[in-house]
Amino acid sequence: MSAEFVVDLDAMARNLQTIRETIAPAEHMLVVKDDAYAHGIDAVLTRAWAEGIRWIGALDVTTGVHARDVLGPDARIFAWMIQGPADVADAVDADLDCGIGSLALLHEAAAGAGDQPLRVHLKIDTGLHRNGVRPEEWAEFAAQARAYELENRIRVDGIWTHIAEASDAEDDRARAEFDRAVEQAREVGLTPEKLHMAASAAAFVRPEFRYDMVRIGAFAYGIRSTDGPSDAELGIEPIGTLTAPVLGVDEESQTMTVGVGFAGLSTIYAGHLTAQLAGSATHLREVKTEASVFTATQPPAQPGDRLALFGGSAFESATDIAERIGTIGEEIVLRVSPLIERRYLP
Ligand SMILES: *Cc1c(COP(=O)(O)O)cnc(C)c1O
Repeated sequence: MSAEFVVDLDAMARNLQTIRETIAPAEHMLVVKDDAYAHGIDAVLTRAWAEGIRWIGALDVTTGVHARDVLGPDARIFAWMIQGPADVADAVDADLDCGIGSLALLHEAAAGAGDQPLRVHLKIDTGLHRNGVRPEEWAEFAAQARAYELENRIRVDGIWTHIAEASDAEDDRARAEFDRAVEQAREVGLTPEKLHMAASAAAFVRPEFRYDMVRIGAFAYGIRSTDGPSDAELGIEPIGTLTAPVLGVDEESQTMTVGVGFAGLSTIYAGHLTAQLAGSATHLREVKTEASVFTATQPPAQPGDRLALFGGSAFESATDIAERIGTIGEEIVLRVSPLIERRYLP
């Protein structure tokens, strides 16, 4: 018996349904970067497709190509971290929608397009400074994109940006910048069908940020934002639970040893995690390489009993722990090493 990361795909389906109802009529692009936030991309993609998801956010081209292999020709797959002609060639082969955030990449995309125009989504930098074309360079960029469209090398299907989701005032400024960019793009003759800017947090609480589509990862996996609305308020639940077996109980020190170490937990969590064992609370004292030490429970645990450390069937979520140690839930989940087996329910 060893530690497992148990992923409840029915719970994911419920989250997807909540997202659909919340953001309608906007569409949900499901973001699956980082191996679907460590939940395992293949199982997530397959179930999401069965639940009606038709847009996938891949981040990088390698992930996009993989998503194409899993989902077949009908999925729309958006990749926005594209670096150089080799990436463009792979994106063309896999029929990806490409996020284009610089004039240099626009030239490369146009040069690399095949027989069909390459579908691109132009990115305006609205203040995050994380890739994207600055407003003062946008008019020239949009005009160049239109010129390539007229040569049938690309087709501008989308305009997008990414926002901090940290302060409303900052996000409002970003939105005004975005609207100006869309207007300028239309003035040069572009006809984007998909405008998108929001991720999980803004998509839920700020309807005016939804436009045609929202790119949601975290909430689909039931990872709420640090210091944001609760799971109950959002109507989501964590879909992954890290579990581990009790290896031994020490009566004298009133502790038990549990079969998960650095591969699932960080030493930083010691003192900050309350796990669930058959309905009783047990507190994390120490994380060691291969096993960790918890307080003993009432009634006493037996070797072979299983603890739910965090996630859907545990007392605490990844974000609960994150809030105590000053990080975000995504980091807690992503630190569950690939060495720990993923098991899928149902
Ligand atoms: C990761 C990412 C998202 C998804 O954000 P969540 O907060 O996980 O919903 C959306 N857009 C971009 C550009 C991203 O990198």
